[in-house]
Amino acid sequence: MTHTVSLKVKPNFTRKYRSGFPLILADAISNLKVLKEEGTIVNLIDEKNAFIAKGYYGKQNKGYGWLLSKNEHEKFDIPFFKNKITAALHRREHLFSDDATTAFRIFNGEGDGVGGITIDYFDGFYLINWYSKGIYEFRHAIIGALKEAVDYKGIYQKKRFDAKGQYMEDDDFVTGERGEFPLIIKENGVNFAVYLNEGAMVGVFLDQREVRKTIRDKYAKGTNMLNTFSYTGAFSIFASLGGAVKTTSVDLANRSKPKTIEQFSLNGIDYEAQDIIVEDVFKYFKYAGRKQLKFDLVVLDPPSFARSKKNVFSADKDYKDLLKEAIAITEDNGVIVASTNSSAFGMDKFKGFIQKAFQETGFKYKELEQFSLPEDFRTIKEFPEGNYLKVVFVRKVQ
Ligand code: SAH
Repeated sequence: MTHTVSLKVKPNFTRKYRSGFPLILADAISNLKVLKEEGTIVNLIDEKNAFIAKGYYGKQNKGYGWLLSKNEHEKFDIPFFKNKITAALHRREHLFSDDATTAFRIFNGEGDGVGGITIDYFDGFYLINWYSKGIYEFRHAIIGALKEAVDYKGIYQKKRFDAKGQYMEDDDFVTGERGEFPLIIKENGVNFAVYLNEGAMVGVFLDQREVRKTIRDKYAKGTNMLNTFSYTGAFSIFASLGGAVKTTSVDLANRSKPKTIEQFSLNGIDYEAQDIIVEDVFKYFKYAGRKQLKFDLVVLDPPSFARSKKNVFSADKDYKDLLKEAIAITEDNGVIVASTNSSAFGMDKFKGFIQKAFQETGFKYKELEQFSLPEDFRTIKEFPEGNYLKVVFVRKVQ
């Protein structure tokens, strides 16, 4: 696409954009209706028609596109994207030289200068996530740039931009050689089975790397551990390797059971000595309450929003109640790992949920440590909203 349209910023937003805010917000633009086709290049201008920044139109739940340059004459071509990717790789050189970890993010959207895409590395394979039709219009330049910037076995992609911003089912292979799946990657010495061509989720959420390591190295030993919303059981595997006496993994999805068995087996752990339960977590809490089950270590890692047969869970409304359920089945002096990837609220509000949940259940707690996104999920100070991950370790005390 070659033509460029000018987007006029409302006066009370010009400062924000001049200081580097990268996301095009509908509220900030007075002539939004000039936008027609996604992928259109846009120049952001102020009320006096002075240039502010250049970007593209692409609809995401977050906004209307991203600003990529402060140079009016910038071209979004292979050299442009190659520069960005090379700089991103440079920042992560030390990760490539760590044999114990062979999967991490090499490009994190606006954190690395191009909002709307992420690129992850899985032991020689690269996976591009496209978050809008708009950024996908630049695929030839971006894939071309990636091919020039890295040695790859193969490149895969996920399109995450159907009408609801969801993953679109497709053959995700792009170029190079096809992988043989599962691809076995390592994270801090632990094996993971990864599938790059089977739906939206590949088997592991790379942003929790530090949390998994912390659980293994500092909190798991001797515990009876409960992992809720467990997906492929990643936290359970790390807890088990860290010396948990037993782990219980609970997830609603049928696929979670064979996937969790697979991950345990890949790491030489007897899965039959673990509980792997396919059930609604809220139902499980009731069961655990009836049976008076108690756990020393409880991980809560729900999706921001989920609908099950009986429940609609939305992190900003329901996290406090989820915590209350967890508190009830946590041993005294037990540890709760409260995690959320919701961008609807920040760390302060999240800690507020924790504080209220303990207050309402009449227990005290001690905050132990907290995590946000790891360094490979780079964020920038101009867009702190990009740091969506919040994880707080707390100890329940009498
Ligand atoms: N903690 C996981 C990632 C969780 S992804 C990890 O570290 O890898 C969210 C998971 O929550 C999905 O696997 C989904 O199936 C599950 N889920 C959503 N609603 C649920 C519910 N009500 N009860 C149990 N699992 C649920």
